[in-house]
Amino acid sequence: MDRRELGAGTRLVRAARSLPSGEGQPVVPPLVQSVAFDYGSAAEQDAVFGNERRGYVYGRYGTPTTAALESALAELDGVAAVTCFVTGMAAISAAVDACAISRGGRVVAQEDSYGQTRALFERWTRERSADIVFVDTTDHRAVEAALVAKPTALLYAEAIANPLLKVNDVPALARLARDNGASLAVDATFATPVLFRPAALGATMVIHSLTKYVNGHGDVMGGSVGGSEELARAMRDRTILDGAYLPPHEAWLAIRGMRTLSLRIRRQCESALALARHLAKHPKVTRVRYPGLADHPQHDLAARQFGGLYGGVVSFALRDDTKPAAFRFLDALELAASATTIGDLFTEVLYPPISSHRRLPAEERRRLGITDGFLRISVGIEDEADILADIDRALDRV
Ligand code: PLP
Repeated sequence: MDRRELGAGTRLVRAARSLPSGEGQPVVPPLVQSVAFDYGSAAEQDAVFGNERRGYVYGRYGTPTTAALESALAELDGVAAVTCFVTGMAAISAAVDACAISRGGRVVAQEDSYGQTRALFERWTRERSADIVFVDTTDHRAVEAALVAKPTALLYAEAIANPLLKVNDVPALARLARDNGASLAVDATFATPVLFRPAALGATMVIHSLTKYVNGHGDVMGGSVGGSEELARAMRDRTILDGAYLPPHEAWLAIRGMRTLSLRIRRQCESALALARHLAKHPKVTRVRYPGLADHPQHDLAARQFGGLYGGVVSFALRDDTKPAAFRFLDALELAASATTIGDLFTEVLYPPISSHRRLPAEERRRLGITDGFLRISVGIEDEADILADIDRALDRV
């Protein structure tokens, strides 16, 4: 069987099954907690330290269990190699710093990316005089103008942006980046490797917060950076020196979680579409943002790029577009958690103005469309009717 032809669901279920063992192949990869690794001879150890031979020397340099997760992710994302970090932010920080900031390289970044990503980029601008410009990455003329203005090392975008759910045209951004001598980094956290593979569409770097859908059970934090072997060497240098490498226990849990990713995300996408359609008709709701709705500005692109799935997150604004109304809604939820994350088994509702986008000045937040009554729902795998009933009950209290 040609493994390249396997679907994402099959790859996920088989993820990390191929670790060699002496007597029979374990169907679940062993959890190797050891920090250090003993060698029969100093010469062997020397060869491993010198990268002349594959092997493990110390937990920060690589562990068999984390490597199993990295290989599985590399296969899923269709990239040469993946490096795993302790959080998604650690992955973003290492990748963007290594490929641009630390070399004085300019970055053109999506203006409405995840709040902490934007906050990190702004801190680098303030504290390290980094040249980072923010643009609407769905406006390709604006992207081109920013790239043409000065030599740029990196174009940075999210596949489905958090929390406004704008969808980026990865092939178009890849072309613009390539034509202007820049690399393209895509944070594919909201899309997951099940919806699409950004590397196949021209992205040079694929980032995931494993904390979200990939693990999916709300009990592990992690991040990954995938791309070329050269990128992997730069990332390995970061894990060794900055120390933010994903430990084996987290990697083992992430492997276990990701085996069901295909099932989970498909169900979450189905329920999210039903919820978005329901909210769009609700009298207490004004704006609904969901790539699966025909009125979403990038609906056709999303349909094309993600093969008929639109993600498990729905955002909307209350007609009473105020903070007290949003608080009443959150306090009335009985089933959904009022929690700051996405991609878990359970439905989670976030109020961005007090959490992910708290650091952004209120004016800029509103300019981006994150108004005072704006909420984001990460749809879980509960029964669809129960999710809708919980949201309706909470809307009744607004
Ligand atoms: N990228 C996106 C799109 C996110 O939404 C988040 C967190 O919410 C991150 C990256 C950061 O991931 P982590 O929380 O694992 O550091």
